[in-house]
Amino acid sequence: MALKALEIYKMLPKKNCKECGYPTCLTFAMKLAAGKADADTCPYLDEDTKQLLRGATRPPIQLVKLGVGERSVPVGDEIVLFRHEKAFYHPPGIFFTVSDLWGRARIVVAAERVMEEIFPRVGENLRFNGLAVRNESGSPDAFGKAVAAVEEVAEFPEVLISGSAEALAAGLARCGNYRPVIHAATLENHEQVAPLAKRFGCPLVLRARDPGDLARLAKTCTELGVRDLLLDPAPATLGEFIHSSTSIRRKAIDRSDPDLGHPVYLDATAFVPEEAAIVTGILKYAGVIVTSVLSPGNARMALTLRQNIYTDPQKPIQMTPGLYRVGEPGPDSPMLATVNFSLTYFTLLGYLEASRIPCHLLVVDTEGFSVLTAVAAGKFSERLMKESLDRFQVAGQVKHRVLIIPGYAAPLSGRIEEVTGWKVLVGPRDAADIGEFLEREWVAKGQSAP
Ligand code: SF4
Repeated sequence: MALKALEIYKMLPKKNCKECGYPTCLTFAMKLAAGKADADTCPYLDEDTKQLLRGATRPPIQLVKLGVGERSVPVGDEIVLFRHEKAFYHPPGIFFTVSDLWGRARIVVAAERVMEEIFPRVGENLRFNGLAVRNESGSPDAFGKAVAAVEEVAEFPEVLISGSAEALAAGLARCGNYRPVIHAATLENHEQVAPLAKRFGCPLVLRARDPGDLARLAKTCTELGVRDLLLDPAPATLGEFIHSSTSIRRKAIDRSDPDLGHPVYLDATAFVPEEAAIVTGILKYAGVIVTSVLSPGNARMALTLRQNIYTDPQKPIQMTPGLYRVGEPGPDSPMLATVNFSLTYFTLLGYLEASRIPCHLLVVDTEGFSVLTAVAAGKFSERLMKESLDRFQVAGQVKHRVLIIPGYAAPLSGRIEEVTGWKVLVGPRDAADIGEFLEREWVAKGQSAP
């Protein structure tokens, strides 16, 4: 059970001596309850109390860092079952699979794609996280060579997949220092595989169909000294995966079985169609998803869905307010205003670029709300327009004083004119019509103030 700050406070010695680094015992208790302080830093607690606090204040699902360096991926450390309760924080790492039956050149091509491919979307650069190397040959030597081929290119996390401790050792000899994920320790082989994970400090996937076996394996491997664990419930169907993954998440979050408090692993390549498995994994709690080398369409689908699900539903993705240039606008170019909801901005930007009419785009701070919501909530107002025009020194950029506002902000047009002194043109409601609107209202009228 998670302890509340007040319950923790009652256990503290209340000396307010600041030796823990916090100004009062109450602050320390609040930080502990939030999982942001370490019980060991108070020197006045006895060992039993520390033990109790450690168990009750650690995150319900352990944070596991995959790989090292810039492209390392933190997974786990989630605190809710449903996204609307708070948010999902750590998107699953998605790994393309290569086989040790492939030639070196084919493996390098896949590795280069993961290194270089970027999908820009609503202000973020989306990318895949790494490669999973599968020991399909059964040969430790071939597996070592395949891992070495990835290493030629890789500066990203890896997953080493083999049922053989000997093959895993051969792979780890090539990349062990980069903390690849090891898949997998089972009831049968964990005594050979867990020591490898411990020696190289790597995250270890535990594989068992029965949740009870997974919990027992987790307890045993923790006792053997493996710090970072993931759970593969070895599902035969996607329905079985949803059932196991949800049950693991629920028991971890309510702390009814703390041994299940680890991120979940899903091998999407085991299912047909694979796309359904990828979607299921993203929606239903997978921390690592292994896929085949995806087509561009499926790649975009997976990354877009992952971005959407792991966006805080209470915080829309926002653009930084400011004055942006589309193309090479001059002093006679149109001046458009819009909100700082990223999807609105990027949709409008796409249509403006397609129109090939250079323009200025004033993005105002509506706290990430779309035009319709911002107008209804009073976030998009004449006062905000005046403040934004002044703050970003918009008047200095153009010779005219004409501002094009979004169609859904039409009811404000008069008040904006009054307060700002700019003439207002009401643009279209649909961003798709902006090109035609500019042609008609700006270009055809001689690129000057109407
Ligand atoms: Fe309180 Fe312990 Fe921190 Fe001192 S070290 S302020 S007693 S929690």
